[in-house]
Amino acid sequence: MTTVEAPPSHLKENPWEMARSQLRRIAGLIDVSDSMLNVLQECKKCVSVSIPTRMEDGSVHVFEGFRVTHNVARGPAKGGIRYHQDVTLDETKALSMWMTWKCALMGLPFGGAKGGVVVSPKELSEDELQRMTRRYTSEIINLIGPEVDIPAPDVGTGPREMAWIFDTYSMNKGYSVLGVVTGKPLEIGGSLGRVEATARGAAFCIREALRKEGHEVAGRRVAIQGFGNVGRNLALILADQGASIVAVSDSTGGIYNPDGLDVAAAVEHKRTHRSFDGFDGAEAITNEELLILDCDVLAPCALEQVVTGDNADKVKAGIVAEGANGPVTPEADQILDERGVLVLPDVLANAGGVVVSYFEWVQGLQEYFWKESEVNAKLNDIVTRAFAETWREHEERDISMRQAAYAIAVGRVAEATITRGLYP
Ligand code: GLU
Repeated sequence: MTTVEAPPSHLKENPWEMARSQLRRIAGLIDVSDSMLNVLQECKKCVSVSIPTRMEDGSVHVFEGFRVTHNVARGPAKGGIRYHQDVTLDETKALSMWMTWKCALMGLPFGGAKGGVVVSPKELSEDELQRMTRRYTSEIINLIGPEVDIPAPDVGTGPREMAWIFDTYSMNKGYSVLGVVTGKPLEIGGSLGRVEATARGAAFCIREALRKEGHEVAGRRVAIQGFGNVGRNLALILADQGASIVAVSDSTGGIYNPDGLDVAAAVEHKRTHRSFDGFDGAEAITNEELLILDCDVLAPCALEQVVTGDNADKVKAGIVAEGANGPVTPEADQILDERGVLVLPDVLANAGGVVVSYFEWVQGLQEYFWKESEVNAKLNDIVTRAFAETWREHEERDISMRQAAYAIAVGRVAEATITRGLYP
């Protein structure tokens, strides 16, 4: 008998254990009681579903999916849906906890949730993906809703999948429910600026961090890992502001030019060739090499746990902006902190997405849609204020930006929990 080995997961450590130990560390730093910690370190609800899906060859494949609610003390649960072959329940739980902190740090009236399906979406046809998405939606249909839990895109999903979720939910209700999901296409109630929002929020944070060092974005050298929605748009936005994007990458590898890449050409090359292979005017590099390039800002915008205890001492950037969720492990975090590298944590640096999701939800509930300039100005207000609050906490307490962000966020969720009181 031959056994086929599964490809190794990108998750080297258990993300749920990581998320909980981050929380415990913060609880020790701020005034959070043991009883409160007992509440906050658990997820309110974890649902695991099987998703039978008819494949193109007529067979039925059963996918595994999850939807987790971490906390709803501050409002309905909010968080994306991830399609990736390495999705696990523990990863989904960690991501849902991070959503709780992210929404609280941004001051949004939301709790945290996350969903995931164990699938390599690129290996499915569009029809298979649609059938799978609709069946997954129907399996979690009683869990989601505009007042309960509002999904959105994450790794491996986008406006197309959100349209299918919106339609499946609405068909079951008998009318269009705009507020059930965010990240929808514009023609069915999406918000202007939502697609670029995560990258735009990260760009605002990078701008603020550089200002603290007396620098402008223009002229800074930036390396970006990941060329999905976040990485690609961040490269375009920062290049537009005059930064020199020295490297970008996708899951198979990257390209590097110390004098700066032609980002628009790289986007076009990736769109037509589906990879950076053969791109002119740059040398090929691996994802590992990208992380330790000589640059001012490193933005890991792909998956978790890429900066670890093994490479953190080689990172040369002065600022690490977490476009992805959880790209820096706690061990790496400590090493970077000791070396004086400023880490802009995910709950701050990539929160632009959920902020504009909030705007989309509000616009959908009101059935009144805003101009893009209004969306971007309001996004700037919220992210810049959250950055300033986090920076103040970071300086006053002499703690890292991550600890400062967590201290504010966990404090807000704890306060809401105390104010509401324990039921019954
Ligand atoms: N998946 C994104 C995140 O991790 C967006 C979530 C949302 O818009 O609800 O923040």
